[in-house]
Amino acid sequence: MPLIAVATLGGTISMAPVPGTGAVPRLGAAELIGALGDLPMDVLAESLAGIGSASLDFATLLRCRDWGLRQEADGFVVVQGTDTLEETAYFLDLCWPSEIPVVVTGAMRHAGLLSPDGPANLRGALTVAAAPRSRGRGALVTLNDDVHAARWVRKGHSNHLDAFTSAPAGPLGMVVEHAVHWFHPSPPRPSVLTGEDFGGLVPVVEAGLDDSGAVLAHVATQPGVRGIVLAATGVGHVSSGTADVVSRLVGSLPVVVASRTGAGPTLRSTYGFHGSESSLIAMGATMAGWLDARKSRILLHALLASGADREGIEREFRLRGDLD
Ligand code: ASP
Repeated sequence: MPLIAVATLGGTISMAPVPGTGAVPRLGAAELIGALGDLPMDVLAESLAGIGSASLDFATLLRCRDWGLRQEADGFVVVQGTDTLEETAYFLDLCWPSEIPVVVTGAMRHAGLLSPDGPANLRGALTVAAAPRSRGRGALVTLNDDVHAARWVRKGHSNHLDAFTSAPAGPLGMVVEHAVHWFHPSPPRPSVLTGEDFGGLVPVVEAGLDDSGAVLAHVATQPGVRGIVLAATGVGHVSSGTADVVSRLVGSLPVVVASRTGAGPTLRSTYGFHGSESSLIAMGATMAGWLDARKSRILLHALLASGADREGIEREFRLRGDLD
């Protein structure tokens, strides 16, 4: 039987209600696995944290990755809250130096609600992690029977059971009768980012109406800021005030421009006004392509942690974001 390592970090899947309060993390790795009954795999499970996923940090994720690697299992499942699950999955996709599948899962309904989805999601993630054809695909996400690539997945609904989407690419596969049915091959993985210097800050600043650029200027000059991600309007546009600030910042900080729309890429050469995508590129900003601002923040921080210079950052965003 395959050996699957399971690390639990908390989240709704581990939560149960406390009378007079609300649901809080209460279930550890042993209880979550124990609830699944007999399994066609050996499972080695450990609780590495028991927190809401908004409180997860890079240090915990690096510890989780290293624990997973040390088990030398056939697959690795990470269990956490769904709120930042897409960020963890993308982080592991960038930093997981192994062919062994790493599958992230969670739940939308805790154990005290009607039809909690945690047990089925965990069972699905174990199935994916144990499947030989999951190897070499980087980090995957399994929820609600769908198998998503970390590169595309995002939480697209705050509360619905079917909250995760890979639009417009679509899921990679589906779990059916405890087997994975693959719809698509995975593209070759870009090189793994192994740097561990995750100190400092990479803030995301959202552009919008009545935007003088003052917020960006304030945020970018705070101590410890190593780079900025702009969640720009439309295809990568900002106000002319913000464009002025970008032109001053790019000499000292990497500035990555993503679309705030939640779907579709940034462009490169369609618009020419001050604040347009082509004007920001001419200033020296890096376009995120299909990567949203959330994933861009993870990629930029991981590149900085690996010592990438400006050329390296531009090259990696073109490779991982533009897809051309
Ligand atoms: N609502 C969240 C969840 O789905 C809480 C969290 O992300 O920890 O798990």
